[in-house]
Amino acid sequence: MTAYDVHAWSVPMRVRFRGITVREGVLLHDPATGGWGEWSPFLDYDARVAEPWLRCAEEAAAGDWPAPLRDRVPVNVTVPAVGPERAAEVVAAGGCGTAKVKVAEPGQTLADDEARLEAVRDALGPDGLVRVDANGAWDVDTAVRALRLLDRAAGGLEYAEQPCASVEELAELRRRVDVPVAADESIRRAEDPYRVRDLEAADVAVLKVQPLGGVRACVRIAEDIGLPVVVSSALETSVGIAAGVALAAALPELPHACGLATVQLLADDVAATPLLPRDGALAVPAGGGPQVDQDALARVAADPARAAHWAARLAEVRALRQDRGS
Ligand SMILES: [Mg+2]
Repeated sequence: MTAYDVHAWSVPMRVRFRGITVREGVLLHDPATGGWGEWSPFLDYDARVAEPWLRCAEEAAAGDWPAPLRDRVPVNVTVPAVGPERAAEVVAAGGCGTAKVKVAEPGQTLADDEARLEAVRDALGPDGLVRVDANGAWDVDTAVRALRLLDRAAGGLEYAEQPCASVEELAELRRRVDVPVAADESIRRAEDPYRVRDLEAADVAVLKVQPLGGVRACVRIAEDIGLPVVVSSALETSVGIAAGVALAAALPELPHACGLATVQLLADDVAATPLLPRDGALAVPAGGGPQVDQDALARVAADPARAAHWAARLAEVRALRQDRGS
């Protein structure tokens, strides 16, 4: 077994994101290869769910990524469920050609979503692409009605991400609307993308490298399911984002901008040069992963109690593997 240096880290989020205010994880460093990998399964995930996330980190630390086919990966700016003026500011500051707009926020109305989308279209110009993300909030009938209105407000939608919660609902909705449907939350485990394909539930698959077991595993999934892929983050540091970038760079086709511009959501980072977008794209780092900065690593180091927690989680996943005989 590879003897990794293990660095537990903890970084506050700049804005609360899906209930999370602090992001935590572990960086694995393989002294033999010099490579780094990130393992940052969310805190409520058990060892079984967190195991493929570890495979992703080990693949990264081993430097075992497929060769890139492109040197830049277009990314989207994400517009939270804010008012129209703020939405326009976010788009302007993002400098991206594609905007992902959060909709169906609890406590808000469809009129709020329409106003936000009109403002985003104005700020982006006619050539920009606008997608919405409902995070599974609508039932099928509501989604049919909402997507007709929002498609008009946006001057055309690129696609709707997870408009309904279940794969069955996505499949039904897809037969009732013209707006393409993307599956995000419906794809969390390795078998999920195949279910989405078999039920013809989506036009686009959103893939995240950590939950699906790494870059090579995701390349294989993309090949098997034959759907256009949008690579998205799990709110990682630049080390984790680099794995997503490696996947996006290795896919033969990359027709849509990726959801990998999330390093700025964290208040700090571990890389000497954080993976932040320039001119609407992330540069593919030469040699795979970014250079880890030792000062930054010391700055974000978890306190002893959290470090012990992560050491215990890691031991749990390794014990699970031993039980499985893998
Ligand atoms: Mg989403």
